Amino acid sequence: MSIISVRKRDITAVAGLVMLAIAMLGVGILTSQTVKEMQLMRDAEMTALRWAKTFDDRREDTWALFRDRRQTVNANSIGRKTQDVGRIISYELYDRTGQLFYSAGVANWLPAKNVGAMLDSPVTRKHSEAGMPTTRLHRPGTTHDISHYASVAIPFHLADEYLGSVVAFVDQSEQASSLTYSFSIIASATVVLLLISLAAAAYVVISKGRERTTAVARVRYLSDHDELTGLPNRQFFNNKLEELLSETASKNKISVIFIDINRFKEINGAHGHTAGDFVLRGVAERIKSKISGNDFAARLGSNEFAIALTSVQGPKKAAAFASALRDMLNAPYRVDGEEISCTFSMGAALAPSDGEDAASLAHHANLALNRAKTEGPGAFKFFEHGMNVAFQRKREREQDMKNAIERGEFELHFQPQISLETNTICGQEALLRWQHPLHGKISPAYFIPLAEETELIVPIGEWALRCACAEAASWAEPLNVAVNLSPVQFKHGGVASMVRKALNDTGLHPGRLELEITESILIGDPESVVAELDKLRELGVAIAMDDFGTGYSSLSYISSFPFNKIKIDRAFIHAMTRDDALNAIVKCIIAMGHSLDVVVTAEGVETEEQAKMLRDYGCHQMQGFLYGYPMSAEDCAQQIATSVVAKPLKTPRQKSGNAVAA
Ligand code: C2E
Ligand code: MG
Ligand code: MG
Repeated sequence: MSIISVRKRDITAVAGLVMLAIAMLGVGILTSQTVKEMQLMRDAEMTALRWAKTFDDRREDTWALFRDRRQTVNANSIGRKTQDVGRIISYELYDRTGQLFYSAGVANWLPAKNVGAMLDSPVTRKHSEAGMPTTRLHRPGTTHDISHYASVAIPFHLADEYLGSVVAFVDQSEQASSLTYSFSIIASATVVLLLISLAAAAYVVISKGRERTTAVARVRYLSDHDELTGLPNRQFFNNKLEELLSETASKNKISVIFIDINRFKEINGAHGHTAGDFVLRGVAERIKSKISGNDFAARLGSNEFAIALTSVQGPKKAAAFASALRDMLNAPYRVDGEEISCTFSMGAALAPSDGEDAASLAHHANLALNRAKTEGPGAFKFFEHGMNVAFQRKREREQDMKNAIERGEFELHFQPQISLETNTICGQEALLRWQHPLHGKISPAYFIPLAEETELIVPIGEWALRCACAEAASWAEPLNVAVNLSPVQFKHGGVASMVRKALNDTGLHPGRLELEITESILIGDPESVVAELDKLRELGVAIAMDDFGTGYSSLSYISSFPFNKIKIDRAFIHAMTRDDALNAIVKCIIAMGHSLDVVVTAEGVETEEQAKMLRDYGCHQMQGFLYGYPMSAEDCAQQIATSVVAKPLKTPRQKSGNAVAA
């Protein structure tokens, strides 16, 4: 529905209203005319009948008059007497055949010619036979300033015999003008009322039309724009870019820059969504202030923006523009007295070398942005043709991963966790492995992020959980099993019910299951995640904070949920023997674990020196190549059946090697 068609509809509606008003006015005029005539006829009839009463009173004379048709003194006296009644101008007497035989009245006054013929009409005759008067209105009057008069034919009967009629002419000039006056007042009032109602109706129609037009414009604006920032959205950006590219004049001059706010989720998590919205609006404002003329910008997604520049040509100028823009965007955003700093990644594609249509240009700018993101905060990259190949490869891997689920290419390996108190294996961490038929072993560091990006981690994670529970349930010793959960699984929802089902189906005791989550899980919507974690704890499973120390705000998260275990990230363990500061942090985390009554596990323990230090600091558990590499489910089951006493590996280490020898 276009605005033009809406306006046309309004005009048609108003025109309809005007026509209706005119029709109503016409009907009103006709009705008032008819009412006026009826009033006049009634008045004439009443006046004439009152006057004619004299004839009735002097019946004998009247009969004689009609019978003898003589103009007797009596007749004259009747006439004169009757004229006294008032507005009777003159009267005429007709015999039963309709012949005029007597007339009297105002001198020089002549009734309309056709009045005499009135008695001949079938209606009058019928009325006469029934003894009823017949009235007609006439105008204009001919003389004596009589503008309106009426003729009333009154029949006279003797017994049942019709003798003839008296036709009385009643002056109605005054009545007519007073009725005309009254009706003209009523008509004027009606016209005024009609005009008011018409104006009101037209106002309603027009304002409704305006409201509709505004609503249509608003819907169109919303479909093209992002409400939060007021910038156009992705669809608008693509359409406008396509439009611009189709204009040959600007074909060679377009640079497209995609911009991403780094770690925006963390800004939302740490400062709240209101602050996040404020930053988004601030970024949009700064971008808007940087563009002019034919250039345009858009918000493509939650934290992604795009600019199309016609005024900036060539890679040198585009890079200079991006650098200036980044400096401008990097300046802190002040929210409620607090300063929020952000970093930005940018990717650019230039027309026509990187694409001649909007879709490929946007796709290539996006690839450049993705590459910039991998290079760390603040990076800017131009599209390079190799990126397409990498992207293609990634897509293929994605498809591969879908097939891998069906072909059963995933398997679980298990890595022992050692209790320093008992010097025995107390649990095993389940770690996913992908054995690709062509590419061989693919590292979780590569496929887990891809699985998270595509949400394939949801079915893969469920499979890993069920498989780990089933394996653990079959072990000779009732060791714990630790399973990693992805934030994407929490975002998808139903984690607690998935875990309950896995425990029920495999028969594993909930007390033997440990779920490892990372701090990033609590970013975004911590309340709903904590609610889900509570449900998990109600099931009786333990919750471990994995990779502790690498996240955004570890301590605040530790206090927001009572974790059962903290796993110090291996980066700290790796460097603790060389770096005093990291050593102090590790010591501190272990002390914190003691005071919070939380088990502390050190990850990535590779050397005796690290193990000794951790033991001295009071670390509860260790996990690392020193005690065992991740091994297949069969090797793990066999090792558990043999012994669970923990001993450091002998050098040289074997990747598939047994961790603990009796
Ligand atoms: P993570 O949960 O922190 O697992 C420990 C990682 O450290 C494992 O890497 C393990 O092989 C490695 N590691 C253990 N000891 C040592 C050591 O002494 N030195 C060194 N350098 N590395 C050691 P992996 O198996 O490559 O897994 C990497 C990450 O992938 C895991 O880190 C975990 O975050 C993720 N992951 C693995 N399996 C799953 C899974 O089933 N679901 C989910 N959501 N993530 C998983
Ligand atoms: Mg883990
Ligand atoms: Mg870890």
